Amino acid sequence: MSPAIVRVALPVPLPQCFDYTAESIAPGDLGRCVRVPFGRGEKTGLIVALPDAAELPVERLKPVIAIQREAPALPADWLALVEFTARYYQHPLGEVVAMALPPRLRRADAVAGAEADPLLELSAAGRQALADSKRESRALALLRSLDADGPSRRQLLRDHHGPAVSDALKRGWITPGSAADPAQMAGAPTLTDEQQAAVASLSEGFGCFQPFLLFGVTGSGKTEVYLRLVQQVIAGGGQALILVPEIALTPQLEGRVAGRFPAARVVSLHSALAEGARSQGFVQAMEGRADIVLGTRLSVFTPLPRLGLIVVDEEHDASYKQHEGVRYSARDLAIWRARQRSVPIVLGSATPSLESWHAAETGRYKRVELASRAVAATLPKVRPVDVRREKLQHGLSEHLLRAVEVRLQKGEQSLIFLNRRGYAPVLSCPSCGWVSRCPHCTANMVLHLADRRLRCHHCSFEAGIPLACPDCGDQDIQPFGRGTQRLEETLAERFPTARVLRVDRDAARTRSQWDALLEQIGNGEADILVGTQMMAKGHDFPKLTFVGVLNADSSLFAADFRAPERLFQQLMQVGGRAGRGQLPGEVMVQTQYPDHPLYQCLARHDFQRYAALQLDERKQARFPPFAANALLCATADEVGTALDWLKAARAEALPYAQAFGVMVFDPVPMRMVRLARRERAQLLVEAPARPALQAFLSAWSERLWALKPPRVLRWHLDVDPAEV
Ligand code: ADP
Ligand code: ZN
Ligand code: ZN
Repeated sequence: MSPAIVRVALPVPLPQCFDYTAESIAPGDLGRCVRVPFGRGEKTGLIVALPDAAELPVERLKPVIAIQREAPALPADWLALVEFTARYYQHPLGEVVAMALPPRLRRADAVAGAEADPLLELSAAGRQALADSKRESRALALLRSLDADGPSRRQLLRDHHGPAVSDALKRGWITPGSAADPAQMAGAPTLTDEQQAAVASLSEGFGCFQPFLLFGVTGSGKTEVYLRLVQQVIAGGGQALILVPEIALTPQLEGRVAGRFPAARVVSLHSALAEGARSQGFVQAMEGRADIVLGTRLSVFTPLPRLGLIVVDEEHDASYKQHEGVRYSARDLAIWRARQRSVPIVLGSATPSLESWHAAETGRYKRVELASRAVAATLPKVRPVDVRREKLQHGLSEHLLRAVEVRLQKGEQSLIFLNRRGYAPVLSCPSCGWVSRCPHCTANMVLHLADRRLRCHHCSFEAGIPLACPDCGDQDIQPFGRGTQRLEETLAERFPTARVLRVDRDAARTRSQWDALLEQIGNGEADILVGTQMMAKGHDFPKLTFVGVLNADSSLFAADFRAPERLFQQLMQVGGRAGRGQLPGEVMVQTQYPDHPLYQCLARHDFQRYAALQLDERKQARFPPFAANALLCATADEVGTALDWLKAARAEALPYAQAFGVMVFDPVPMRMVRLARRERAQLLVEAPARPALQAFLSAWSERLWALKPPRVLRWHLDVDPAEV
């Protein structure tokens, strides 16, 4: 009898899988990890097929070293998910698997039978103790909470009651629960009419594939709506997957979810978890021993045999897209998964991505709206501040400084929000508002300081840097945003008694630093906060009543067409930070373009109008969602090598480009040409729609793999790039 053949996906930068022989193989070995000889060493991969025939003559195949059979095999729908990811994002399957599988499973180490978090309930003795008790104690508080809310998970109880839990276990007052209902809810508020209506429309989607866009301002109670849907899913024996954009937001939500469903098994997954915890959570979910999985983008790859619902919170958030390695969008994959498994998916946001908004406008998604805040609070007053004729003090206008001063006198907090994304800077004129547009495209030309050129990243047109404004002759033209570096010092000089606190990635490198900062702010130990995008998300500061926004214009005219969309989202969010408590909030945006529609819509809190305007512009310019893009990026020891290879790659593309209706632009050096001692260049591919792009990329990437690059060159494709 000839040996069986297994096809293995290996984590190597090559497009194909590899065949090996195995002495005995069962159909259940599909989806198992395996150790195989590779080159001069060994590698661990995943069995992705059990083909009848190999691609090479069988006698040339090597035998596998070991198949790892202690851990459960990955299910077929999971294999289909990673295969789709590899195909869609043009990335080797073995590398997708290596990213999606927790390292312990991948390394084929035995995965310890993950101990579940037991459910604890009040025993008869416990009830007696509760009835007999006279004095207040920690134990009593524990017993009382179990009595009021029903059984609860040990970990959750420990978080709240500490050592009283083990103590009560020893005394026999609490015992592992017998048959508690994981769908049991504790402390749920009564839904508003609007929330109730939303839950009713959304639950119509159960049992079939239906994407919903839950459009509701911050504080409108979207999370509360998700939790009710989750409850229905668990009650029906299903599992729910909840995706959140940031690790920093998971503990907050985890606490809320675990507190609401004390008897449910909640697994939280994100990249900052220890290896052991990550593989345990993964296996618990895969074996159906978790009711709720919540986590960041990577958790979209969690196997869930009883999946009943997917929620993507803050669906517009850019962190759903991975920017290195496998450049996937967790939101988009979540939609694919929902379709694959015939379950509903709820995308929630106050400022949906224009892609999702367009899908709702055209009926592909169902829109469900929460128009008012769940707990009464007024929206902040937002206004643009014209800085064209004003002399700024290191980027700060007198208007803004006075607003800060008023807050200081009242003992309230201010936030100076500095828009400092890594957007490519364009040149602008402070007197007349001229910007460096490309004469051939709808794009703006980007300033490359290294060789003092302006370049269009679309069509690769180049020009020198003008000495004065071509429109009005002002010699003070400069990139947006210069002069804000000394912000903190300027504030400290102007307000010597105020406590100024900087909140950005540098000040909050670790989770505990970040928590400490949040606590400091919450306790009112700071008067003026200086922050970047980190400040925009998810936190409530009751004493914060004023937000001043600097350098917003740089996004208005950035070369990246998504920059204005992100600016609008960010300003809506950052504005939402002001006046969350009892005090009304105010937002001032410094700008040279006070009449710009973005600021006008923002002042009216009118997302819908803004979305309509932007979608119109995108349609005219043929940008997504009215087109689909990919970037081919190359890095080498010098940019010339990268450009040459990209030119060759472009030549390979031209024969099919026309057939698929695809535009392949000329390669351009990236603005930050040098990074980590390598130089980078890219070229843009523009297709009329995703299917055309996919068809083109499949054909083209075969040619790319065949194009032997110079030894120093690395390349990758970025499909649906976040920035172009
Ligand atoms: P979102 O997710 O839309 O920002 P949340 O669900 O977090 O909104 O709700 C915002 C706040 O309002 C939270 O403090 C939440 O507890 C509260 N809340 C939500 N719904 C209700 C309700 N029906 N009754 C009382 N409070 C509510
Ligand atoms: Zn151009
Ligand atoms: Zn000018």
